[in-house]
Amino acid sequence: MVVAEPDEHTVRSELLRQLVQRERKLSRSSALGTLLLIGALLASQPVWTLLVFATGRAVSMWHSMRLAQRLGERSPTADDERQQALGMSYAGLSWALALLFIEEPLGSHWTHALVLLVMVAVSGFMSSVALLSRRVLVMFMLALWLPVIARGLFIVADGKGWLLLAAISYVIAQCHFGFWQQRKAYEAMVLQLRNQALVTALELARADALQQSRAVAHTNAQLQAALSRVSHLASHDELTQQLNRRAFLARMTELEQNRATYGLCLVDLDHFKSINDQHGHQVGDEVLVLTAQTLQAHLRPDDVLARWGGEEFVICLAPRSVGDMQEVTQRLCQTLTQLGPPLLPQGVRVSGSFGLALWMPEAIELEEALIVADQALYQAKREGRNRVCSAPVAMAAATA
Ligand code: GH3
Ligand code: MG
Ligand code: MG
Repeated sequence: MVVAEPDEHTVRSELLRQLVQRERKLSRSSALGTLLLIGALLASQPVWTLLVFATGRAVSMWHSMRLAQRLGERSPTADDERQQALGMSYAGLSWALALLFIEEPLGSHWTHALVLLVMVAVSGFMSSVALLSRRVLVMFMLALWLPVIARGLFIVADGKGWLLLAAISYVIAQCHFGFWQQRKAYEAMVLQLRNQALVTALELARADALQQSRAVAHTNAQLQAALSRVSHLASHDELTQQLNRRAFLARMTELEQNRATYGLCLVDLDHFKSINDQHGHQVGDEVLVLTAQTLQAHLRPDDVLARWGGEEFVICLAPRSVGDMQEVTQRLCQTLTQLGPPLLPQGVRVSGSFGLALWMPEAIELEEALIVADQALYQAKREGRNRVCSAPVAMAAATA
């Protein structure tokens, strides 16, 4: 992920925006500072001195507030920077005037030094605020310190070159410190903007990835549903919803490894054609569905029922005794004869012929066992239908 380096314009705009946001708070604290200074000087200074200072401060604060308001809802321009420079110059001048007009500075050298220190702190503080451009900083420094230094030069001594030199050095040092602070602020701002861009890009990438993974999960779920629908259709009979012949044979292949004896039972509905003929194909379908449900309901979970084709079903009975297998099959046969109203229309009589054989996968092929079951089924048909014929005894003898 590539995050573009913020350009100069963006950085300066952001700095100015932040600066202006602080402007409102500053105006309030400046007002407090102004009141405190006026209070401190009230006893020792003439009123006009305080008035000049207070007016300067008021103009400066009003200017700051107006600028902050102007920039409230739009991004800053070069003109705003000029306004900023002007505002800072007002501020510098008003503080300088206070010092300039103080005739007797609070009685002692110590208090005079203290006032100067406060002024220095204030100027340092204001300088750190004027971080946006060199022009603003220089104008603020000159407005603040030139009148004070000029006064100092006139008062202290005529022609003292070293004092002039010290004053100039002081202004230069302050400017230099301000420039250094500007550079640091600029670098910090670049870093902050780059981090913001990085966080935004990361959030976008994360949202994008989340959306994609949701889409993939949705598609997967759809595919999964389609797949299970397709595999159900491929392995189940559409009408009765039982396994079809292919799925039944596949299930039998899984059982082939077992050393066990299963029962194979073929079921053929009796005179089913006449049900179709007398009551219609749809009733014939209902009989098939009901037969499948009835057979299934009377089997164990590990028995396997499938539609063998047409009106024929096949059952693989899980291992149990031969007697139990015959008993289960007999019960199925009887249950079919009980089907009727209200599930089926009046007059529909259902019965089936059952052919039962044993299947021992290790000893006999499935096909052979199915043939034996089929023969038993035909025997049941021949003997009059609606009955079970089983070949397990013959089979058991054959495999013994
Ligand atoms: P038998 O007792 O000898 O078995 O006589 P039958 O009438 O049951 O046997 P036959 O083979 O003569 O007829 C089977 C009928 O089953 C013929 C066919 O139309 C019908 N059949 C097969 N599949 C379906 C089906 O899905 N729905 C319906 N309604 N009928 C079906
Ligand atoms: Mg048949
Ligand atoms: Mg039949």
